[in-house]
Amino acid sequence: MIEKRIIERIEYCLKNYKKISFLVGAGISAESGIPTFRGKDGYWSSGSKNYKAQEIGTKKIFNVASHEVLKFYLYRKSITEFAKPNQSHFMLKEIESLLNDNFALISQNVDSLHKKAGNSDDRTYLIHGDHDFMRCGDECSSELYPFPNGIKLKERQKDQLTETEIELLKCHKCKEDLRPHVLWFDEYYNEKFFKKNSVLRISKETGLLFIIGTSGETTLPQVIAKNVLAKSGMVVEINIADSYFSELLKDKKNGIIIRSESSPFLTELKKEIEKQVVTLYNKS
Ligand SMILES: [Zn+2]
Repeated sequence: MIEKRIIERIEYCLKNYKKISFLVGAGISAESGIPTFRGKDGYWSSGSKNYKAQEIGTKKIFNVASHEVLKFYLYRKSITEFAKPNQSHFMLKEIESLLNDNFALISQNVDSLHKKAGNSDDRTYLIHGDHDFMRCGDECSSELYPFPNGIKLKERQKDQLTETEIELLKCHKCKEDLRPHVLWFDEYYNEKFFKKNSVLRISKETGLLFIIGTSGETTLPQVIAKNVLAKSGMVVEINIADSYFSELLKDKKNGIIIRSESSPFLTELKKEIEKQVVTLYNKS
């Protein structure tokens, strides 16, 4: 059951054209079998090399060992490529269809599952990038290139990177190595690649923000939550464990913490939004 305060807030947002926004992280993709970077699977060993994910996913390592980083990326992609959206993704898609322009999805996931579930590109903000694209590792341009055809992802071995693949993973313009279009641990958010300004604007138009399955260890999601609270919006965290947001919300009048898996909550929420949208539509 969705609690009364949230129900009333949905009604308020619908009547006052305030956005109902969703900030989501790795927790919602866990059911699709995608391991998180920060959990116990967040290690990368290849040959004699051992890295933490936080070390391998950096510009610093790419600059000195680009092929090692590309092997890591291709291996991650070999997992996300065949993963299927789960109930949470499908509910977010349904909710977008009900809310249209009152909806925004801000996702830290690079796994393409929102796209596979059918969320629109226009209302989905991939603030950590997208595994389906690459760009020049030397930034000779800021163009995004689709993931190259001809790279075998099925049953990929960690140590694999063939001569053909190395060629396919070069920038067409300057022949430097391509890099995945993702935000690395030693890089900063910007508008050009990660829609920083757009999501900050959205945070100020949001009357109700759901934060789902993210530990909130990066700056932009933290600022988004604070902006919503500063504008008297309501922030609801849905997470199975404590996070940065639990601490932020615990004493706030407009803060709600729900200890739940994402799928059952989103399923109930979708029903509630549907009910209200139908009621509103019938009155007008
Ligand atoms: Zn280039």
